[in-house]
Amino acid sequence: MTGISLLGIPNDDNSSFLKGPAEAPAHIRRELRSDAFNLWTETGVDLGVPGRLTDRGDVPFDGSTDPWELIEQAVADALDTGGPLISLGGDHAITHPILRAVRRRQPQLTIVHVDAHPDIYQSFQGNPRSHASPFARIMEDGLADHLLQVGLRTTTGHQREQQRRYGVEVLEARSCTGDIRLDLQTPVYLSIDIDGLDPAYAPGVSHREPGGLSSRQVINLIQAIDQPIVAADVVEYNPRCDISQITAVVAAKLVKEIAGMMVTQRA
Ligand code: MN
Ligand code: MN
Repeated sequence: MTGISLLGIPNDDNSSFLKGPAEAPAHIRRELRSDAFNLWTETGVDLGVPGRLTDRGDVPFDGSTDPWELIEQAVADALDTGGPLISLGGDHAITHPILRAVRRRQPQLTIVHVDAHPDIYQSFQGNPRSHASPFARIMEDGLADHLLQVGLRTTTGHQREQQRRYGVEVLEARSCTGDIRLDLQTPVYLSIDIDGLDPAYAPGVSHREPGGLSSRQVINLIQAIDQPIVAADVVEYNPRCDISQITAVVAAKLVKEIAGMMVTQRA
């Protein structure tokens, strides 16, 4: 069976406040492979079995080609092997070009988006590619049938209008008590912004927003997804803001549990 592709996306060109998420892929890889941990998931999948994980390196940004073209092409190349994809790092802006490639291969698609922020500004600080805007681009381009946002706690009036305009389903953080159960009808793209977790669990982010999800809640959410996860991203980890690599370990853990679900779903 074709393995799961890992792809680093070292790009924070469109971060509005701090740089740093471009440095995330190497940190997440290091924790994934660290001798401090094993490669078994909580659900009993050994990701160390040869061929289960294929690291495709980082998207080769060269300063001349449009980064969005390079991301879309690298994702397309990975998906064309027939296996699912997990991207490592970058800010949230990169989810738009990833989905351009995913959608071409998925006529039915629900996005499960974990985040403190809805990231659906029509444009932010004059930048339509801002990491505060990817879901406006994704919905206007029709790159998903359904968008489900989980863990939000910063939504402005404009963004509430945008959510209505695009028919977005929202599970705000304040209503996320205990286990989060999702009703999913199609294959899933999972987009995890690390700041969806509470900064107590994941301080290494550019925009710390108290009142977030626990690591346990996000892992349980991943493990409860009962539709195929065709691709996923783990974005907005900022190593420059981390404390003792706590957040790198969290990001690696989420990657592992997503990969475990992908293996189980395809077995
Ligand atoms: Mn985000
Ligand atoms: Mn966020």
